Amino acid sequence: MLSPLNEGGAPVILCAVRDITERGALEEQLMRRTKELETLHVQLTELASRDPLTSLHNRRSFGEQLEWLLRNACRRRESLSLLMIDLDRFKRVNDRFGHAEGDRTLRAVSEAIAGACRQNDVAARYGGEEFAVALPDTDAAGSLLVAENVRHAIEDIAGLRERITASIGAATWVCGEDAAVPPQTADELIAQADRALYRAKAEGRNCVRHGGAQAAAGHLSV
Ligand code: GH3
Ligand code: MG
Ligand code: MG
Repeated sequence: MLSPLNEGGAPVILCAVRDITERGALEEQLMRRTKELETLHVQLTELASRDPLTSLHNRRSFGEQLEWLLRNACRRRESLSLLMIDLDRFKRVNDRFGHAEGDRTLRAVSEAIAGACRQNDVAARYGGEEFAVALPDTDAAGSLLVAENVRHAIEDIAGLRERITASIGAATWVCGEDAAVPPQTADELIAQADRALYRAKAEGRNCVRHGGAQAAAGHLSV
C-alpha cells in the first residue's frame, strides 16, 4: 500500500508491505472446501432420490417429479401420461430361485424399462416389484405405444432363470380446455393408472390397459 504524505514541505511516500501468502492460501482452501461441500450436497440429494437396488428414482422423488411435470404440462397445455407397471407372479421367482435372483431380476427389469423410455421420461421403482413411468407430452395413444414397448422389453430380458412378464396400467392427464374444470391431481392420475393395472391383472396379466374414458369407449386399442 502506498500513501503519499507531505512532511514539512517535503513529499514522502509511505510504503506498507504485508505478506498475504497465508491469507491467500486460507482463502483458496476455503473455496476448495466450499466446492467439496457443494459436490457432496448434490451427491447426497441424488442418493436420497434414488432406489439403492435399481438406481431408478424412488417413490418420494417420483411424486415430486410428477407434481412438477403436471404443473409444466398445464402451463404448456400439453398432455402427460403415467404407466404403473407390476411384475407378474414375481413372488414365484423368489420362492423358486431365492431373493438374490429376485433382486437380479428387479435390476434387469429396471434397465429394460429405462431402455424402452425416452430420455426425458421419468422412471421410478414405486414399490417392491412395482415401477412407475411418467411420460411428458404423451397422449393416451402414445402412452399405449410406450407401454407395449416396455412390456415387450421386460418379456424379452435374456439371461434370467425364469422369464418374467409385467402387467401395465396407463392413465393420461389432458389439459382441459375449460379453465373452470379443475385439472386432475397427481393422486387421481395414479389412482386411475392403478385401476387400469388392476384390470390388466384381472384380464390375464402380461398386457396393457388404459384407464381413460377414450379407452373405455373403445377409441384406443390395447
Ligand atoms: P401378481 O402377478 O399378482 O402381481 O403376483 P406377485 O407374486 O408379483 O405379487 P405379490 O404382491 O404377491 O408378490 C410380490 C413379491 O415381490 C413379494 C416380495 O417377496 C417380492 N419383493 C418385493 N420387494 C422385493 C425386493 O426388493 N427384492 C426381492 N427379491 N423381492 C421383492
Ligand atoms: Mg405388486
Ligand atoms: Mg406383482
